[in-house]
Amino acid sequence: MNFQPDSNLDSFRQEVRLFLGRNLPADMPRRKDGMRSPRAELVRWQRILNANGWGAPYWTKEHGGTGWSVAQRLVFDEECAAAGTPSLDAFAHKLVGPVINYFATPEQKAEHLAPIFNGDRLWCQGFSEPGSGSDLASLRTRAERDGDHYVVNGQKIWTSYAHQADWIFLLVRTGNETKKQAGISFLLVDMKTPGITVRPIISIDGCHHLNETFFDNVRVPVGNLVGTEGEGWKLTKFLLNNEHATTADLPTLRRFHRQLQALAGTARACGVTLAERHEFLLRLARYEAELKAITVMVQRVAEMEQDHSPAAHAMGSMLKIRGTELQQKMSEFLVESLGDHGAVSYPDPHAQQAPTGATLPPQETAQGVATEMFFRRATTIYGGTSEIQRSIIARTLFHF
Ligand SMILES: Cc1cc2nc3c(=O)[nH]c(=O)nc-3n(C[C@H](O)[C@H](O)[C@H](O)COP(=O)(O)OP(=O)(O)OC[C@H]3O[C@@H](n4cnc5c(N)ncnc54)[C@H](O)[C@@H]3O)c2cc1C
Repeated sequence: MNFQPDSNLDSFRQEVRLFLGRNLPADMPRRKDGMRSPRAELVRWQRILNANGWGAPYWTKEHGGTGWSVAQRLVFDEECAAAGTPSLDAFAHKLVGPVINYFATPEQKAEHLAPIFNGDRLWCQGFSEPGSGSDLASLRTRAERDGDHYVVNGQKIWTSYAHQADWIFLLVRTGNETKKQAGISFLLVDMKTPGITVRPIISIDGCHHLNETFFDNVRVPVGNLVGTEGEGWKLTKFLLNNEHATTADLPTLRRFHRQLQALAGTARACGVTLAERHEFLLRLARYEAELKAITVMVQRVAEMEQDHSPAAHAMGSMLKIRGTELQQKMSEFLVESLGDHGAVSYPDPHAQQAPTGATLPPQETAQGVATEMFFRRATTIYGGTSEIQRSIIARTLFHF
């Protein structure tokens, strides 16, 4: 592995900074946390990126994307996070988009790709069901063929942002094969189709990200099947294995680090700044060391991913465990370091307006910190739990 600074990457970083300086509107609210942006901001930013040729920053040129290397994509994410740009629709760009690019028919591409570039169509993911999360292949939502439609019945759960999404990509059972991975199909479904009901789940952070999604005799045109009927598991594996280097969420870890450094010199406890307290410095140094180790690991996984090395899969699982655990530790440390202010819970960032009568602490740094700490509890669950990641590492490296 090459540890020398990459001058090409440095000049790419300058290019991204210049782009952001020119194109990020002054009146666009700066995102201070790692949560998804409100729909209007996300869509506006997507249109700005697209108008300037960066509408698909993670895709190859062949698919209309920027054609950046994995390392360049990481730089783009990092600079966007540092500048506080709105988020992108990760479900569209990182999950269903690549599936459409590689497996969809020309008609399906014509229908779905332009709205992703324009920000006209937001997506959500309908995979998990009650009782089918880690063991996804045990899913029971069924689609029965009726002429040129499938009729879908069943329930999905933990459907992030289904309440904002225009379309959902859905795993359904179309066959009765005994091997549970067989007989699963991948459907694209318009959320406005009659028979779909979305019910909110409010999570421990007090926000509405999650939903239960019910399908009651939902008629989906057969033309919305991606790939071959009954072979959706192949597409699912492709989708779930698509991204490895970003699983640690380095931009978020770096932001936590910046926030902690800012607090060190300003926040006071018992008459002294945090920077004057031995225990604070020791803990900060420990997390800095972990962050540096993860940064090197991300670089390594990016190189492996670029080379399509099979070991990127297991390394990605290691990164996910280390990165998400550090996110949890650093966000807790932030809350603790803010003392009384850290305990203040803030309003749902997706709500239209802040509730009246809320007393906010004076430090801007305290805003949203407790909310995000609670949200980060979920990072070791979504995208595959830590236990499942450990099984992947064991299976891949030790051939269990
Ligand atoms: C914030 C958040 C957002 C999400 N967004 C979406 C979304 O948009 N769309 C979607 O489809 N899903 C989404 N999910 C669901 C997520 O994918 C599942 O929660 C996850 O796969 C775990 O499944 P489960 O909740 O059913 O837990 P289970 O699979 O029931 O696991 C329960 C516990 O048992 C452990 N366990 C299970 N199997 C094994 C095993 N074989 N070996 C060792 N330990 C095991 C797990 O690690 C866990 O600790 C989201 C989840 C969260 C928390």
